[in-house]
Amino acid sequence: MAFSDFVLNNELPIRLGFFFGVFGVMALWEVVAPRRALQTSKGVRWLNNLGLVFLNSLVLRLLFPAAAVGMALFASGQGWGLFNYIEAPLWVAVLASVVVLDFFIWLQHVMVHAVPALWRLHRVHHADLDFDVTTGARFHTLEIVLSMLIKFAVILLLGPPLVAVVLFEVVLNATAMFNHSNVRLPQTLDRYLRLIVVTPDMHRVHHSVEDDETNSNFGFNLPWWDRLFGTYRAQPRGGHEAMTIGIRTFRADKWCSWLPGMLAIPFVGKVQGYAINRREWQQGDEQ
Ligand SMILES: [Zn+2]
Ligand SMILES: [Zn+2]
Repeated sequence: MAFSDFVLNNELPIRLGFFFGVFGVMALWEVVAPRRALQTSKGVRWLNNLGLVFLNSLVLRLLFPAAAVGMALFASGQGWGLFNYIEAPLWVAVLASVVVLDFFIWLQHVMVHAVPALWRLHRVHHADLDFDVTTGARFHTLEIVLSMLIKFAVILLLGPPLVAVVLFEVVLNATAMFNHSNVRLPQTLDRYLRLIVVTPDMHRVHHSVEDDETNSNFGFNLPWWDRLFGTYRAQPRGGHEAMTIGIRTFRADKWCSWLPGMLAIPFVGKVQGYAINRREWQQGDEQ
């Protein structure tokens, strides 16, 4: 199929084009119409958050040179996975694969909030005191590696077409940058847009210091899983401008803004608060 061949033959330029294109547009938009004032200077944020992104790309490349597409190629060679087993039109297999992969990313995101040891890794994403386009790719290296292993497992079970893997990664990368951006969208546009994609206002709720708000809106791309499974929350209680972003117990720049501290966060202190076995209940919560 022509489209599929085009994507696979131009994988690198497509990936880089979308990354730099979307990053550039969102970064510019943040200057023109910012949603909130930043706590930390943009220079420090870009240097350290993008430094982590660079480090992660390097580690992934060294550990898994063939990446997710290589795993999809391997699955198809072995005849493993659903879509290498059943005959489905390519467009059905591509659409279904993108949706299923997105569901597993959502499920993984719920899991890293629920399991205390994994929350230690995921804290690095949440410890950011601000919320902007560079937050979108700010994940601890170990979480990125874990993420890739989970994606490999899903690919082995699903047997997606190669083009679906590339499209999924490109789209997820683009939507993650979009919905972490510190941008102001007209309210009506946001209301309609969040029916099909996670918007910045929707995902910002997830970056609140309030436990119940953090434990909602786990989607990075499709907004439906949160609505379907009961974790959707429309707006933050404090309002988007006044709400506090980050983790209550990590407020110092040393941990939140500088790369060495960010890399050390998983190994610091006790896991606080809201992880799966330490939920707090208040009187009056009973149904
Ligand atoms: Zn999270
Ligand atoms: Zn996020």
